[in-house]
Amino acid sequence: MLTKIISQANVDHAEKWFEKADKIVIVSHVSPDGDAIGSSLGLYHFLNTQSKTVNVIVPNQFPDFLRWMPGAKDVIIYDKYKEFADKLIQEADVICCLDFNVLSRIDTMEEAVKNSPARKIMIDHHLYPGDFAGITISHPEISSTSELVFRLICRLGNFGDITREGAECIYTGMMTDTGGFTYNSNDRSIYYIISELLSKGIDKDEIYRNVFNTHSEGRLRLMGFVLYEKMEVFRNFNAALIWLTKDEQRKFQYRKGDTEGFVNMPLTMEGIRFSCFLREDTEKNMIKVSLRSVGTFPCNQVAAEFFNGGGHLNASGGEFYGTMDEAIELFKRALIKFEDLLLAKK
Ligand code: 5GP
Ligand code: MN
Repeated sequence: MLTKIISQANVDHAEKWFEKADKIVIVSHVSPDGDAIGSSLGLYHFLNTQSKTVNVIVPNQFPDFLRWMPGAKDVIIYDKYKEFADKLIQEADVICCLDFNVLSRIDTMEEAVKNSPARKIMIDHHLYPGDFAGITISHPEISSTSELVFRLICRLGNFGDITREGAECIYTGMMTDTGGFTYNSNDRSIYYIISELLSKGIDKDEIYRNVFNTHSEGRLRLMGFVLYEKMEVFRNFNAALIWLTKDEQRKFQYRKGDTEGFVNMPLTMEGIRFSCFLREDTEKNMIKVSLRSVGTFPCNQVAAEFFNGGGHLNASGGEFYGTMDEAIELFKRALIKFEDLLLAKK
């Protein structure tokens, strides 16, 4: 049995809104990851069984390694089909906001969602939720939004309506937001839920291969290059930095998602507790910052204080507008500022 996490008031409220709604739009954050697409499609498959008109819209393209997911072809990319998507958002009865806590995280879609008369439900697990939604199901203690979607469907009394396709999407989000159940994954209820998802006929081993073992040759060679040439280890701070320019990405035929997971690699070295990956974005004129930590080091504080960002204790990110040299300098300043916490024995 699962303990009840979502409040009964939120479950009842959501049930009422879903019941009354005919057109439902599901939106998730910019540069969608496995949990963004997994939770959105998990909810999408469920609501389809309830005879609703459902559309999933995300601001921009998601990485290739998520394309196999059931329903992925139906996901509308706002950047490409703005007019059509604007109409759906405007005419929706309910908009479900998944895996983000403030509207700025949906980038170019922010205005359309803000201005839509639709009722808004937030289902999310990031700290400090904004107050834009009429129903806020926010649980930072839960490791993925996909798990929250599973919990909500069950609390609505609809476990029976979760299809194999829906279960595959939910599992994918749970798996990717925990690095294949290697962090934020000590809660035993996760494994109870996995067992329930397996009862729907999912092949979890195949899902793992689909997500993690379908890389291009370019990505593997880029990984080798990055580790050999572009990683600086700051032993005195238990930290490491990787950085990558646009030219270097081009040289390795960079495709979206190719650097996924790179930021985690330095953490496989003994003693390294904090890792930073700086990548010149190929679409926007900025440097994308990814931060990861192990233990109690709050990389979200570094993201917020130095890189206009935020996120979770152990996984956060932000954006930097300036040159790569400036971003590297800023990272070094962050190391000095956070030295005590970096060197704390935990
Ligand atoms: P990633 O490094 O995978 O892009 O992001 C890891 C986590 O950091 C995300 O799940 C999200 O919580 C947070 N994050 C990443 N980029 C940003 C950003 O630009 N702003 C904020 N507020 N959070 C971010
Ligand atoms: Mn998530």
